[in-house]
Amino acid sequence: MEKSNGANNPDGGNNSDGRNELDELGEFGLIDRISSNFENRQASTIIGIGDDAAIIKTEEEYTVVSTDMLTEGIHFDLSYFPIKHLGYKSVVVNISDIAAMNAIPTQITVSLAVSNRFSLQAIDEFYEGVKSACEQFNVDLVGGDTSSSSSGVFISITAIGKVAKDQIVRRSGAKDKDIICVTGDLGGAYIGLQVLEREKQVFLSNPEMQPQLDNYEYIVGRQLKPEARMDIIYELQELKVVPTSMIDVSDGLASELLHLSKHSGLGLRIFEEQLPIDNQTYETAVEFNLDPITCVLNGGEDYELLFTISQDDHEKLKKHADIHFIGHMDKTDEGAGLVTKNSSLVPLEAQGWNHFKK
Ligand code: ADP
Ligand code: MG
Repeated sequence: MEKSNGANNPDGGNNSDGRNELDELGEFGLIDRISSNFENRQASTIIGIGDDAAIIKTEEEYTVVSTDMLTEGIHFDLSYFPIKHLGYKSVVVNISDIAAMNAIPTQITVSLAVSNRFSLQAIDEFYEGVKSACEQFNVDLVGGDTSSSSSGVFISITAIGKVAKDQIVRRSGAKDKDIICVTGDLGGAYIGLQVLEREKQVFLSNPEMQPQLDNYEYIVGRQLKPEARMDIIYELQELKVVPTSMIDVSDGLASELLHLSKHSGLGLRIFEEQLPIDNQTYETAVEFNLDPITCVLNGGEDYELLFTISQDDHEKLKKHADIHFIGHMDKTDEGAGLVTKNSSLVPLEAQGWNHFKK
């Protein structure tokens, strides 16, 4: 870590007596502190943290690699994002990309830039979240980088995974009449974010007010503590189903469907009445004067899996409680369309999560 310069920023800082400054520990002290809290569990991790690079053993498989960067003020707001949850979610969004290749995650690296308004306790909490995700998804933390930042927190995580060569699933493999499947329910993370933003505004205008989140637990949890659907990847393996194409739902269903359509060179149809939406998502959308279906189509960050299967595999999945069949690929029409409850056809548009629009 570089020496931090400016004065303590009281914003977000905990200036009580118990606070430990990052400067006291130094870069190597911090790295030792992080690595002593983690253990390796993957046989492929030969060397983790500590040398100039990690060493990973590869077999007769493909290695998949994915990186995501999260920026304070763009991807998260520390005024309502607990730091431990932030650590967990930062890992999850990367594991979700590995899952979307039908691969098994094995290692991660975590790079972090923080200003000195971050205490050592805050870093510890962040890594508690990272550790809990490593345990949940059985991955090793094998490296990273640490830097100071003049303002804001930057988190960049790389996830590494493995997959047998004949099991790899890309965005591009969907065939005509393949069935489009999506896991879980959609729109919750987006509407959960609306609730958190509203409570933040209430708090800013009257700091005496405590946030009212009691009726919104599920959707707020969808925003603050998402899960990568590795459970589905393992189940598909057991059922011997290899999806023909797959993507994770990070930007919104419509946007991801357009990716599958474009990469596979086919049109598609989905049906409004098949779209999975949770009751709390539905009711809160109505409360916010938002159309629930728009939240399902364009809300981001659900980290569910969207995939296509050949019709022959439908039988194996049809009783699965958490996989929903929402439509099919269609070569007769280039477009991607939604068939509404009253049978009209609406073209899908990717108006999802665009961080650059801000
Ligand atoms: P270098 O100067 O060669 O970049 P560093 O001192 O940054 O080396 O890193 C030493 C070791 O500690 C490396 O194995 C690196 O991957 C690991 N490391 C550094 N920062 C972090 C971090 N934030 N989380 C996990 N591992 C880290
Ligand atoms: Mg370094």
